[in-house]
Amino acid sequence: MSGRRRFLGAVMGGRIDRPSVGSTTSVVTVDLMDQTGIYFPDAHHDPEKMAQLAATSYTILGYDTIAPVFSVQQEAEALGCRVNWGEKDSMPTLRKHPCHEPEDIKIPEDFLERPSCLIVLEAIKKLKVEYGSKAAIIGKVMGPWTLAYHLFGTEEFLIMTIDNPGKVKKILNILKEVTVLFGKAQAEAGADAITLADHATGELCSPGCYRDFLMPIHTELVNRIPCPIVLHICGNTSDRIGYICETKVDCFHFDSRVLPKEAKKLAGKRISLMGNVNNPETLYTGSTEDIYQEVQDALEAGIDIIGPECAVPLRTPSANLKAIADSVRRLTL
Ligand SMILES: [Zn+2]
Repeated sequence: MSGRRRFLGAVMGGRIDRPSVGSTTSVVTVDLMDQTGIYFPDAHHDPEKMAQLAATSYTILGYDTIAPVFSVQQEAEALGCRVNWGEKDSMPTLRKHPCHEPEDIKIPEDFLERPSCLIVLEAIKKLKVEYGSKAAIIGKVMGPWTLAYHLFGTEEFLIMTIDNPGKVKKILNILKEVTVLFGKAQAEAGADAITLADHATGELCSPGCYRDFLMPIHTELVNRIPCPIVLHICGNTSDRIGYICETKVDCFHFDSRVLPKEAKKLAGKRISLMGNVNNPETLYTGSTEDIYQEVQDALEAGIDIIGPECAVPLRTPSANLKAIADSVRRLTL
């Protein structure tokens, strides 16, 4: 089976020859930059460089996926935030949050033509031509909760969830249109599946908050973005996996703070699961034996796609990332 068919089969709960290996968040490392001679921040600004660096997840690591959107700031810049695009060993960060009121949100008419969005669409098109029959090309959009952090600042937005829920709903309803716009454009450009990253993490958003504010919006996004959706939320999400299943998202990409067996027990057969090899300890400093052990636990629990829990630290050894793919092959021969 090609990586593309295996990944898509796994995401949609269909027939596959073995569990898939992949990541819908960034697996780029400084080591992969050294191997290709393509570095951050250039790879955020040039579609050819973005595509070629992203392709290493397939060509060097042996994953079934290629995910070209490395940062979480593409939409933010197009919406008027000031982004510091970082260095080769740092991810982009935001300098300024431009909004205080829902009326301050301005979705520009040329949103998709703004450089930080256009580059993503161009990179997806290039990858589709070169790797489209082999690997699954993965797009990425930020959900409205994450976009609100970017536009209003995390603290200001979280205080609003307590003080003024009506205003929060208004903001989320405006920002969900950004997610739909960028998601549809990436699907049209050739993305096989799209990561919906919405950082409604346990410490910052209670399960009730997820149910009331986000469950209806995530359900709507699944219906309006015309390709398989992988929801990514970091942190301990065991208290909301039930609600996530109700959105009918195709797959949930979960963190190592949820044990694979627990995630599977909570989700059952309602959605597919992707994850959840620990980043800061196992992948960053662990041995290939540690990785083998975690992969074995995930496979035994019935996780559909095995990969890192989230975007990996940039100094992660590539050999450890490759060890995930090697371990899955060894364990499923
Ligand atoms: Zn994450």
